[in-house]
Amino acid sequence: MSELRWNPVLEEWTITATHRQERTFLPPKDYCPLCPSREGRETEVPAANYEIVCFENKFPSLKSCPPPPAVEGDDLCPVMEARGICEVVLYTPQHDVNLADQPVEQIYRLIQVWTDRYRELGSYQYINYVFIFENKGEVIGVTLTHPHGQIYAFPFIPPRVEKELNSGRKYWRRHGSCLFCALKEKEIREEKRIVFASDYFVAFVPFYARWPYEVHLYSREHRLCLTDFGSQEQYDLAVLLKIILQKYDHLFNFSFPYMMIMHQKPTDGKSYPYYHFHIEFYPPYRSRDKIKFLAGSESGAGAFINDTLAEEKAAELRAAFPHHKWEVEG
Ligand code: ZN
Ligand code: ZN
Ligand code: FE
Repeated sequence: MSELRWNPVLEEWTITATHRQERTFLPPKDYCPLCPSREGRETEVPAANYEIVCFENKFPSLKSCPPPPAVEGDDLCPVMEARGICEVVLYTPQHDVNLADQPVEQIYRLIQVWTDRYRELGSYQYINYVFIFENKGEVIGVTLTHPHGQIYAFPFIPPRVEKELNSGRKYWRRHGSCLFCALKEKEIREEKRIVFASDYFVAFVPFYARWPYEVHLYSREHRLCLTDFGSQEQYDLAVLLKIILQKYDHLFNFSFPYMMIMHQKPTDGKSYPYYHFHIEFYPPYRSRDKIKFLAGSESGAGAFINDTLAEEKAAELRAAFPHHKWEVEG
């Protein structure tokens, strides 16, 4: 059973996907469906080895040929079929590693895969937004520990992106320039929240961070989406991703859980000159042994309370695993 149910109070869709209740939950390594197949054990990947694999999620929230909605909608609360595509991206055939451990070359390949999927899924008539993300760590709710990310190709522009687009559009009309470029310039100018800056990208704990170790990664040039990047920029992005993820893992010396999400131009065929490519990381930890929960104020009022200062957290991340160590080893 799967459908979109309209919430007229928040003016957004809820995706119901009851079949997902049955999905594989934290199987032991020997039963991992994302490892390569071997003698006597077929997995999701019918190959003895692979570099990066991308395939449709077996328990998708959205399908290219969705079943008709199980309930009837009305004018007040319309219902739509849950049409879209959900893909899984396997980062490596190795089970017990993370994206942070991958060589830059492999992360570079991943960026090329993301770019390809963005272009391909975005070209479908019914796909208006291609959302690339990774949930990492059991505290985030990951059900398979094999290193992987996901892609949700939505038939609508998700509300969070819609909000960013509206702000970007307003700023563009008022100033004739990009809101996100202005924010990035502010961070570069003020320096103290910068975590790392490379030739083509800059990573910082944003002035208005909601999560203690939230990091945003912006392209220095005004790029709208993955397909705007040349291979030099793609490679530079791979290096910077590796540096950020290594910093996270070295912060408290354990593999740091996070949500990594990508914001870029919608694929509904309209023009969005005022949007700007960026990646956001939301790690749930607020200290070595404490997790930030989305409680009443965050969940019910939408008002985030951050118990830390972005400037201090950025300094911690800058100090964690100075990148040159890795460059020498790498
Ligand atoms: Zn595995
Ligand atoms: Zn911009
Ligand atoms: Fe964003």
